[in-house]
Amino acid sequence: MVSYGVARRAYGSLLDLVFPPQCAACGAGGAWLCAACSARFRRLEPPFCARCTQPLLLAESAAPETSAPLCARCARAPLALESISAPFLMEGPVREMVHRLKYDGWRVLAGILAKALAESLARSGQRPDVLAPVPLHLSRERERGYNQASLLAHELSNLARIPVARRALLRVRPTPPQVDAPNAAAREAAVAGAFRCNDPTMRGRSVMLVDDVCTTGATLNACAVPLLAAGVAEVRGLVVAR
Ligand SMILES: [Zn+2]
Ligand SMILES: [Zn+2]
Repeated sequence: MVSYGVARRAYGSLLDLVFPPQCAACGAGGAWLCAACSARFRRLEPPFCARCTQPLLLAESAAPETSAPLCARCARAPLALESISAPFLMEGPVREMVHRLKYDGWRVLAGILAKALAESLARSGQRPDVLAPVPLHLSRERERGYNQASLLAHELSNLARIPVARRALLRVRPTPPQVDAPNAAAREAAVAGAFRCNDPTMRGRSVMLVDDVCTTGATLNACAVPLLAAGVAEVRGLVVAR
């Protein structure tokens, strides 16, 4: 069976022949991401929550003794995950690329964004046993034709040499698009109980959840709960943008 990486590279070069590459963010010809847009990617920089990397307002982290500031959400009720990491802020060219990958079928972008995930993972010094993409409900995956989190996880797997646990999680209930949820509490209610872990081989392992974007952490948290209940030793999250 042809591996996903091989299939994507073949598909990617076919796409290059039919449609010459153009920058996903600004449309300039020559590459899927031009140098100018790449330079405008904004890295996620402090102050951010020590646990979930939610960007913080300066006032929220003003106290000098708080070497590990927490966001209001984590201070109130810690997430089930150990941590969430993200190399970028969800704005500008990053936002364009994430949207192209997610909604416009630009699967080729998964390879570019996964490189940033691989660098972020290497910098963190973390070495999870497996990667687990946040699953879409089957009805949505059929409609879209692919799961962008899965594409990212497989590209990251090739780069970081960490296996993907394809069946670690199952989405048992479709959830409304998160953009429709008015606030953090509504988002949490919308995804609570939406995922299940039916994979007994996950017991005792460390799992890195992979997704394109994290807004409140509600989805990653809803994924972590059944994994931990199934005996997973540790769950962390890694996303492109926060
Ligand atoms: Zn560009
Ligand atoms: Zn937090």
